[in-house]
Amino acid sequence: MTRPPGAPGTHETLLARHRAVLPDWLALYYERPIEITHGEGRHVWDAEGNRYLDFFGGILTTMTAHALPEVTKAVAEQAGRVLHTSTLYLDRPMVELAERIAVLSGIPDARVFFTTSGTEANDTALLLATALRGSNQVLAMRNSYHGRSFSTVGITGNSAWSPTSLSPLQTLYVHGGVRTRGPFAALSDEGFTAACVADLRDMLDQTRGNVAALIAEPVQGVGGFTSGPDGLFAAFRSVLAERGILWISDEVQTGWGRTGDHFWGWQAHAAQGPPDMLTFAKGIGNGMSIGGVVARAEVMNCLDANSISTFGGSPVTMAAGLANLGYVLEHDLQGNARRVGGLLLERLRGAAAGLDIVREVRGRGLMIGMELVAPGTDEPCPEAASLILEAARASGLLLGKGGGPGGSVLRIAPPLTLTVAEAEEGATLLAAALKEARANLC
Ligand code: PMP
Repeated sequence: MTRPPGAPGTHETLLARHRAVLPDWLALYYERPIEITHGEGRHVWDAEGNRYLDFFGGILTTMTAHALPEVTKAVAEQAGRVLHTSTLYLDRPMVELAERIAVLSGIPDARVFFTTSGTEANDTALLLATALRGSNQVLAMRNSYHGRSFSTVGITGNSAWSPTSLSPLQTLYVHGGVRTRGPFAALSDEGFTAACVADLRDMLDQTRGNVAALIAEPVQGVGGFTSGPDGLFAAFRSVLAERGILWISDEVQTGWGRTGDHFWGWQAHAAQGPPDMLTFAKGIGNGMSIGGVVARAEVMNCLDANSISTFGGSPVTMAAGLANLGYVLEHDLQGNARRVGGLLLERLRGAAAGLDIVREVRGRGLMIGMELVAPGTDEPCPEAASLILEAARASGLLLGKGGGPGGSVLRIAPPLTLTVAEAEEGATLLAAALKEARANLC
């Protein structure tokens, strides 16, 4: 149900109340933050009646569409029956969604555990890996993000998202998530992969102990939609497998066909088959809080104590997940992400051509990053990203930011039902925002 637009100033009033009671570190977008009151398809409206084309989907979480009738209906029907029972009782929608995800995961003899967030999913994967291997040593990628809990902050290789260096884990950071910056950037793809593998091997040779797992995002999300070359994790895996180290693929942003070419991000590295574990969250619930971990039975079942997530797998979220996943598969949204994402990437490269503040337009499917630099330099420029974010909002387009302190990469990740006309419209709006921002930078 829509709410009538408030008077001008509605946002300012709510902002003052927000600032009075919520933490300072809970960042808001925009100089004048907005309240989104409703949405439909790929569009949302704010509390003052402005309409936006949504190219960020609440951080890739409104994966399919706003107010998708199939999901709304499933939620309403389940809410009308029972909202919560707990995992102490059989939960039919949870079993059904687990069955579907187990098959889709590609992991043999898969077990699925549902949580309420990506953080909790990764936390569970770390618990499993460290318990199974009897070690608190973990490999993570530089520039990574895996969540906000005490354990996941300890595997975050991105200082902007890592508020403490205290950790229950001993984390070793591996090269490879950022292809076009860092010491190996000038190498060919093969050379880059070989250098990262050599570095990994060298690090493991010099590490005392029994490393439990490598956790990695196939495409780094918060880090600015960057990745290593295809096949990198397959190459890593041959080193890990020699030592019994598990591979956890964090698919919180890359899962469910978002990258177009693949259903899971790990499939770009698939030479030696699926990871030992994968974690998911965000898009599967199209906005309902679902996270989870998939692992082979021997890995999942290694815990010898009880472990529950009270809200994990609640019937109402599972009903949403089932309806949403059904929609994604029946409408081949992975194919849509590939086709419309390919077109959008092309348009955005065209819009950026010749602009000295755009270093790179990269991505696959509907996961596109645009890296901004200070005019004519190679220096990351969060100011340019902020100016573009503001200019785009003013013209009716919502974007995301990421990468480095302050964020110098625009993150473009619309719902997977994006149409060609909407892609063209968004690209035109972004092209104008780029020009405006460039004019305002010295
Ligand atoms: N992993 C990745 C790759 C993410 O992008 C995020 C969230 N940005 C998380 C984990 C944590 O998910 P949540 O915020 O649902 O806890």
